[in-house]
Amino acid sequence: MNKIRVVVWGENVHEQKSEAIRKVYPEGIHQCIANGLSVDETFDVGTATLRDPEHGLPQNRLADTDVLIWWGHVAHAEVADAIVERVQKRVLEGMGLLVLHSGHYSKIFKRLMGTTCSLIWREAGEKERLWVCNPGHPIAQGIKAYFEVPHEEMYGEPFGIPAPEETVFLSWFAGGEVFRSGCCWKRGNGKIFYFRPGHESFPTYRQPEVQTVIRNAVHWLAPEGARWVDAIPNVKVSPEGIRQE
Ligand code: ZN
Repeated sequence: MNKIRVVVWGENVHEQKSEAIRKVYPEGIHQCIANGLSVDETFDVGTATLRDPEHGLPQNRLADTDVLIWWGHVAHAEVADAIVERVQKRVLEGMGLLVLHSGHYSKIFKRLMGTTCSLIWREAGEKERLWVCNPGHPIAQGIKAYFEVPHEEMYGEPFGIPAPEETVFLSWFAGGEVFRSGCCWKRGNGKIFYFRPGHESFPTYRQPEVQTVIRNAVHWLAPEGARWVDAIPNVKVSPEGIRQE
């Protein structure tokens, strides 16, 4: 069986600049997420960061990527438009995209959604309870009726996204807000999943349930069929008006 080729893209800015964040993720958020994936032997996992040449996403690497995971926060504007273009093209061809937490405001997510992707937020380290909306969904396997993250940043509705094709998780926060925290879409031939938890100052990506959801999401996002290459052929017709192959 061919392995699912995963690239975890992390901005890697907070971890470099802030001692407090480095204490939570000394290995980097992207590497912590990658480590959580590596226990699944059907994955071939790599990482990429903003400061790598071409943000670690050169054409040939993206061409060989099945699922891209995106974590960004303070440096969305530094992501080159040419790379956003390139990632969007690969999603339309069939590459899966998992957008995490503050990636809701990344250029690539906003491009693929076509909406504001805005939300309300509060950083108070409060409890988040993620309810499973569809216990039969592949991304919810191994999760009970709900799970809790003890300390997280709050994201609340309204969330400026197009209505999800399926909502797998709905979050409730101790402050009373709710949020669509696990959302599925398809764009072209590619699947997209947005998963909310993962503020940089909390060790959320070390939590087993969160790691389970991310592994499940990678399986769900992996391309099912062939690549859809947008070749734009000029089709010939015979004098009778019949299409010629
Ligand atoms: Zn955050």
